[in-house]
Amino acid sequence: MFVTRFAPSPTGYLHLGHALSALAAFDAAREAGGRFLVRIEDIDAGRSRPDFENAIFEDLAWLGLSWEEPVRRQSAHMAEYAAPLQSLIERNLVYRCFRTRKEIAEAIASAPHGAVDERFTGEALPPDEEAQRLADGDTFAWRLSLKKARAALGPAYFTLVFEDESGLVRAEPERHGDVVLARKDFGTSYHLASVWDDALQGVTHVIRGEDLREAAHLHVLLQRLLELPQPVYRHHRLVLGEDGKRLAKRDQSATLRALREAGKTPADVRGLVGL
Ligand code: GLU
Repeated sequence: MFVTRFAPSPTGYLHLGHALSALAAFDAAREAGGRFLVRIEDIDAGRSRPDFENAIFEDLAWLGLSWEEPVRRQSAHMAEYAAPLQSLIERNLVYRCFRTRKEIAEAIASAPHGAVDERFTGEALPPDEEAQRLADGDTFAWRLSLKKARAALGPAYFTLVFEDESGLVRAEPERHGDVVLARKDFGTSYHLASVWDDALQGVTHVIRGEDLREAAHLHVLLQRLLELPQPVYRHHRLVLGEDGKRLAKRDQSATLRALREAGKTPADVRGLVGL
């Protein structure tokens, strides 16, 4: 069964770029006779707002979409993301990183190839030092160790691939360096929650903008490490603003509500995003 989803974060109003993602996923599900889900990715409590969430449902309904209820709201399931994190901790595939953003920027700048390379790789502190930092109550992030992940998978690491519209792509998780999967006071990152939920919800096709193609390189590694099924990816082109740059939350004139207020119809929106 074909299952796809639209997974917005309620941190602003939906714009034309979101409309393309949502419509592309909805249309694909309908064509395949499959299921279309909406998932609210609101793990960032500081930036997510209920009024934006309500606006998402309103805008999607206005566009003519329908989706399955109940909608999964990630903030209601924060404790569940501890299980995959714990599994990675037990296998020593993640480590506590106590560095601040500034220290990480400095470490990158002083690395031999640092100038153009923003990736960070590191390792756990020696046990006594780590125990001291924990006793001091210092804050930390759980980072995925690429080195350990590679060692754990052996040659299989180099055969990681994902399928997207361009065919089979060899995954290069090293493009990301050692990413943060959770923080001391923050149970999960986008990457961990998204991969976990896609598997939990039985998502077979992830359809989203090409700005997230980079993320697929990491997500397939997480899927392999956590023994989750791997979906097929479809990345669509980005909708550009009048300035030729990709749309951002600040482009208020491209929000679906602004367009609606300006008298545009759902059919106009389909036209505007090239569907
Ligand atoms: N929540 C993400 C966003 O708003 C989308 C994640 C995804 O589709 O995997 O950009």
